[in-house]
Amino acid sequence: MSNLANEVKVAKQFLMINGEKVETTKYAPLYSPYSGEEIAQIAMADKELTVQAITAAYNARGIMAKMPAYQRAEILENVVALLKEKADQAAEVISRESAKPIMFAKAEVARTIETYKFAAEEAKRIHGETIPFDAAVGGVGRIGYTLREPIGVIGAITPFNFPMNLVAHKVGPAIAAGNTLVLKPASQTPLSALFIAEIFEEAGLPAGVLNVVTGPGGIVGEVIVEDDRVSMVTFTGSPSVGIGIRNKAGLKKTTLELGSNSALIIDKDIDIDQIIDRCIMGAFSNQGQVCISLQRVYAHEDVYDEFVAKFTEAAKKLKIGDPLDPDTYISALISKGEAERVLGWIEETKGSAATIAAGGKLHDGVLEPTIITDADHSLKVSCQEAFAPVVVVNKVSSVEEAIEQVNDSRFGLQAGIYTNNVKNALYASKELHVGGVIINDVPTYRVDQMPYGGVKESGTGREGIKYAVEEMTEMKLVVWNQS
Ligand code: NDP
Repeated sequence: MSNLANEVKVAKQFLMINGEKVETTKYAPLYSPYSGEEIAQIAMADKELTVQAITAAYNARGIMAKMPAYQRAEILENVVALLKEKADQAAEVISRESAKPIMFAKAEVARTIETYKFAAEEAKRIHGETIPFDAAVGGVGRIGYTLREPIGVIGAITPFNFPMNLVAHKVGPAIAAGNTLVLKPASQTPLSALFIAEIFEEAGLPAGVLNVVTGPGGIVGEVIVEDDRVSMVTFTGSPSVGIGIRNKAGLKKTTLELGSNSALIIDKDIDIDQIIDRCIMGAFSNQGQVCISLQRVYAHEDVYDEFVAKFTEAAKKLKIGDPLDPDTYISALISKGEAERVLGWIEETKGSAATIAAGGKLHDGVLEPTIITDADHSLKVSCQEAFAPVVVVNKVSSVEEAIEQVNDSRFGLQAGIYTNNVKNALYASKELHVGGVIINDVPTYRVDQMPYGGVKESGTGREGIKYAVEEMTEMKLVVWNQS
């Protein structure tokens, strides 16, 4: 175990406001979701401290707006270099506070490094376009162009499930675009955000540009959302909290990256052996606590039985246990309450025609990877977001029928289809009502520069560095009269 892990274990954590570590009067213990041991004491900000953080970000706007692109890029490059040096520590921080198995925590750190690298690169290519004014009678004799200017103070509110990379998806593009931030990480995973804030300080970010405020969402989050000096709220989290934010944000720009019950279609001609590993990763990595986790599979009747048999066999082999064990694939859900909620949903299926083909129980406090077949659409495991290692597999007789089932959802983040039939792939890409269609892979596929976001209750706006930079800048038009 690294020194940092030991430090984290005993450390009292502070807020980060205007480049200073700030104490609070109230602290709350942070417990490991897996072992229940106390791992840190977390500062609980109140309304006043949150306002203080917003003031710091507001006052630092001018510094960032004036900072040239090469300097913004340089700071982000420094973060990349420092995070590479501290990658093992970073992975351990993620694993300890979220119970993410260390193999996935390491993968998250590798992606976080890439995300900041993309942000560094994107900082240098923020530009507008020239407008053909003389296309209008009234535009003859004019020339004009657009500029992209920083939006100002960004309130960033992040969830527990990718505590480092989802922070990067907000902090990276915000700094690339010349903004300042107040960051409120999830209460269960503040350590990753504080770890990154220290790296930014070391990387040369001016004081006040990145402020981190820990404490309850209902207090800290609400103050951020309601303060008029915050120009944009970028939120990743549950649909219910996201909708509440949208309702309170007024004219602030909002980007909402919310949940889903992502689906995969398996066409009849697919070699099942080739896709099992990807389906296991899609359904069970990070205990299914992934916004694009594979939750629903619609398999063609010609391959259904073979898929269920092989998928179930593979799921039963996954190692359950301590997140810090390098071989662990499945560990504890984020809280006992979450495990109980999901057990209740599994219990609900028992009164229906559904069959639990694998899992369904707790194993040393950890929910087993669970596969449910013939689940009716109205069951919670099917129509709501499970956010747990639970997947339903249903039989369909055509790709058309499968698409109808996939679209019969309140959500629409990403969907996948395995097919060797080009017509079916084209048809699915047109008909699936989601933010991203993944052909010949699971819906769980994501790299960090691609546009990412949902339709319906999965949210509004797009992340992926270039797209987030667009959201985090305002377009200004400049028109010259030459006559
Ligand atoms: P929550 O919505 O519970 O929390 C997200 C953040 O919002 C936390 O920081 C939380 O703080 C804060 N918050 C809570 N209440 C308020 C409030 N009233 N005002 C402002 N902020 C508030 O989500 P989870 O952390 O449980 O994350 C899981 C969810 O995130 C899932 O639905 C998942 O699908 C979604 N998600 C979406 C992704 C996407 O890109 N589309 C990616 C990853 C996850 P606190 O922790 O203190 O309550």
